Amino acid sequence: MKDKVVVITGAGGVLCSTIAKGYAREGAKVALLDLKLESAQVVADEIVKAGGIAKAYAVNCLEKNTMEVAREQIKKDLGACDILVNGAGGNHPKGTTTNEYFNAADVDDESKISFFDLDEKGVDFVFKLNFLATFLTTQVFAKDMIGKGGIIINISSMNAFRPLTKIPAYSGAKASVSNFTQWLAVHFASEGIRVNAIAPGFFVTNQNRALLFDDKGNPTPRTQKILAGTPMRRFGEAEELLGTVMWLSDNDKSGFVTGIVVPIDGGFSAYSGV
Ligand code: NAD
Repeated sequence: MKDKVVVITGAGGVLCSTIAKGYAREGAKVALLDLKLESAQVVADEIVKAGGIAKAYAVNCLEKNTMEVAREQIKKDLGACDILVNGAGGNHPKGTTTNEYFNAADVDDESKISFFDLDEKGVDFVFKLNFLATFLTTQVFAKDMIGKGGIIINISSMNAFRPLTKIPAYSGAKASVSNFTQWLAVHFASEGIRVNAIAPGFFVTNQNRALLFDDKGNPTPRTQKILAGTPMRRFGEAEELLGTVMWLSDNDKSGFVTGIVVPIDGGFSAYSGV
């Protein structure tokens, strides 16, 4: 990783800040991109304090011009992008049903979100944030890889293999990220750009905390169900993504690997529940 320029979106978040620190420890120069500059700046400061090279940039991955501006600045500050991690993503409450299974009484109950109440804007937001953001960010930064090759790592989810209840938009959007990973891997293969994805299982982060724990910090029934469905019986730790990410980023170790989606889920996607 020494002196490689790594661009990471969503780098102020829980998973991608850990990924950013992992790259920095390996000697990479890390560009931390986030909608919230202050979150990315905190991580950049920590990396620099620990002796690494990092800079934070404000971008909106849904507005290409903001990323074009960042790309030019990154080139001046750190160099052209060698590795891109498309980390920005997440769910939205308006794309989430209240109950796991359809209940006719929910349709007329204003306190419940049934399938019929799912908000078009919420669903649109989730598809844009996960699929379109990955697509647009790649359009901007993969240009740096033309002629020299590069690595792209997308962040899918284990719900791309089998959808989770309640979150149809997020499940569908992550399935589209996995599909796009394969498409892009094929498209860029002759250019020496490898494209793979990781599919994390359950990690506690800001976006899912409210689904997993109540106001007092007690596990919700959903958490109990998740842990029962995870053969390793625990949530993942962000650090546990690093081995796979570093392997996929290393041409000596994974040079013939492109177009795969690696589950990192404690066995969740392998377990039938029985
Ligand atoms: P997080 O909410 O902690 O981080 C997401 C970051 O993305 C935030 O810092 C946010 O400001 C940033 N962001 C949001 N919209 C943006 C935009 N338009 N432009 C730029 N930045 C934007 O969540 P996380 O769990 O660390 O998320 C990392 C990735 O992992 C996401 O793609 C998420 O969908 C995926 N994922 C998470 C889990 C999990 O269990 N947490 C599981 C599977 C996949």
